[in-house]
Amino acid sequence: MFEFTNIQDYHAQLYNQTITCTKALQHYLQKIKQHKKLNAFVEVYEEEALEKAAHLDTERKSGKPMKRMHGVIVAIKDVISFRGHQLTAASAILKNFEAIYTATALQYLIDEEAIIIGNCNCDEFAMGSSNENSHYGPVLNALDESRVPGGSSGGSAVAVQAGMCMISLGSDTGGSVRQPAGFCGIIGIKPGYGRISRYGLIAYASSFDQIGIFSTNLPDAALALEIMSRPDIRDSTMMKNDPGTFSLKAEAGKKYTICYFKETLEHAGLDPEIKKSIEKLIDQLRANGNSVEELSFDLLPYIVPAYYVLTTAEASSNLGRYDGIRYGYRSKIEAENIEDFYCNNRTEGFGPEVKRRIMLGSFVLSSGYYDAYYAKAQKIRNKLVQQIEGIFSNYDSIIMPVSPGTAFELGKGKNDPVATYLADIYTVFANLTAIPAIALPLFSHSNNLPYGLQVMTKRGNELTLLQISEMLMQLKSKASVSS
Ligand code: GLN
Repeated sequence: MFEFTNIQDYHAQLYNQTITCTKALQHYLQKIKQHKKLNAFVEVYEEEALEKAAHLDTERKSGKPMKRMHGVIVAIKDVISFRGHQLTAASAILKNFEAIYTATALQYLIDEEAIIIGNCNCDEFAMGSSNENSHYGPVLNALDESRVPGGSSGGSAVAVQAGMCMISLGSDTGGSVRQPAGFCGIIGIKPGYGRISRYGLIAYASSFDQIGIFSTNLPDAALALEIMSRPDIRDSTMMKNDPGTFSLKAEAGKKYTICYFKETLEHAGLDPEIKKSIEKLIDQLRANGNSVEELSFDLLPYIVPAYYVLTTAEASSNLGRYDGIRYGYRSKIEAENIEDFYCNNRTEGFGPEVKRRIMLGSFVLSSGYYDAYYAKAQKIRNKLVQQIEGIFSNYDSIIMPVSPGTAFELGKGKNDPVATYLADIYTVFANLTAIPAIALPLFSHSNNLPYGLQVMTKRGNELTLLQISEMLMQLKSKASVSS
């Protein structure tokens, strides 16, 4: 039986010939079949993945050195283009659409000899927090099938959680990698805006979207991030500085200056057990020689409204292209004019949450309301960015919960979208301010579900983010930080 711990160890097994890529892949294909009920995958590329694995095995046996992702089994969210493969954003409107090119980030992994095993279920156009807004139906949390895995990258999270791949890719516009990582008890990293090319990522809200990584351990996330962080002239919003390498060992033993916002821990919606365990962790960090200070952050009540005004505005524009003319879903209803034709295609093709957001976004951009909503939300975003610059001139990192609670029951958020939006309170902050953030699986609740700690650093500083994360993961393994 194949057992995966991390990529380095897998590569050692390949080198020592105790495993082959084909055998490892067969193990994962078997797991996918076994966990079919979880509904994590949209499509599994069984045949071509097996061909690729056999090819890599032959090359390795002939003495060719392994590249950094050699034989690594990767799953991708159904919003990431992979040439010649179906790409639907879990929406009926893109039914049967095939990607005509490969996303740069994915291409970088393939160039390093990764094997792409399939694409994963998600919320339609990455809009949601539970993976229940999918044309393919909900994904189930492998730890408790009556609960959601989180969203919108729920399928990618469960693919790693239930051992159906080694790492997976998701996208994070307001928490869609970190929140499901927290709900599933795995690692989820959202790099800073502009760190990974967005070329080939279906747009939800372009000034927020980033591709992120799910993994079971930090070195794997660091390696995938390093590979995908290479420049790309096809995304003009990429950061210009060279991220360097993401070696985790460099700063071992270093002490950090960390802060947290009083309001985030005192928030009425936060599960008291989550609050208690973070307070306990803060004590441990201090006892270990780190400085942890409490700050006040009075903009907290504004961040969810600002996020939903800005992202829906961008979405209403981005999703304007799905009209059923050049590609995608086309209604069978006989239309009398072009407007009805668009209307029928979009009415039948989009699900209710996507429609809600298109309407909300069109409203906040409309001439009579632009200043009251869109312009105001932009001002809040600018203010947040300014505040955060001040904070990072004094601190290495901000810590925060990932979500106010643990994975909730399927169907719970259905009738109250606003309550669901409000639960994004801790994750949207990093997208509004473009900073890198990670969810670390440090805690276990008395209800037996996992939950994470969120760590954030200055924009451009993924290395420090990973190093602080490493320190926290070690702290976890030395002493249980759960309550
Ligand atoms: N839950 C958030 C939303 O629905 C985040 C989505 C995302 O990051 N793609 O907008």
